[in-house]
Amino acid sequence: MPEGPEIRRTTDQLAAVLEGSCIEEAFFGQAHLAAAAEQLVGCRVNRVIPRGKAILMHLSNGLALYTHNQLYGVWRVAERGKLPHTTRTLRVALHTGTHSALLYSASDIALLEPPQLAAHPYLAKLGPDALDLDVTWRDVAAQMRLQRFRNRSLGALLLDQSFVAGLGNYLRSEILHVSRQHPARRPGDLSRRDTGLVARAILQQTRRSYATGGITNSPRRVSALRKSGCTRAQYRFAVFGRAGLNCYTCGSGIKRLEVGSRRLYLCERCQPEDGHTQP
Ligand SMILES: [Zn+2]
Repeated sequence: MPEGPEIRRTTDQLAAVLEGSCIEEAFFGQAHLAAAAEQLVGCRVNRVIPRGKAILMHLSNGLALYTHNQLYGVWRVAERGKLPHTTRTLRVALHTGTHSALLYSASDIALLEPPQLAAHPYLAKLGPDALDLDVTWRDVAAQMRLQRFRNRSLGALLLDQSFVAGLGNYLRSEILHVSRQHPARRPGDLSRRDTGLVARAILQQTRRSYATGGITNSPRRVSALRKSGCTRAQYRFAVFGRAGLNCYTCGSGIKRLEVGSRRLYLCERCQPEDGHTQP
């Protein structure tokens, strides 16, 4: 499933060809939306912005096109007239004079008026966005102290878009490892220092992944691993997908758990459940 950094990179690609451009032709694959396509023709796309794992396109007629990629959706950008060859189901097509933006497979799509946008159930519950540069680690620490979050496990919270938007499964493992926390620990269990470490790691790991195209290891570690012949798949993450391999920090074996029905990777030595990190 795409996480915040992947959605933001997709948004950048869409914005590059759509923002400021006029939609000359539009298509919706779902029957209940098909007739609405003509409302888009002749509109200019004012802004394309990510919201958590959704993308909003604000149009010059006041409407906003909401799409959520879900587990399987994918946006593609192509030159006009050069559509990709794919067996996926086309759900949205927006054609400008020069390009086409195409959404395949996803079904969570809506054309919203401003009041509907404000009340949209997914958008309304989103927490602060880890990729919004106005959000600071203190904002994230404040979320951790809220009554509704402080007694839930970090393993559950880091997948909850109402806690912090834009996180997802690989980021969850990487954030917990960098901040040396076990997924069963709760914000209410953490010292002030550890709360700060987790809050900073949430922003740092998500923003780094966006900047690097999905790599969460530090540039220094990546450089060293590349020099030793590691492939991108090998140097990308500190723990995620590395079950049985050695922790880069302490050398212990990385373990795989299921937390909230999703796989989670950790080093139990660096991330002990009782919180007393061994040297
Ligand atoms: Zn370790």
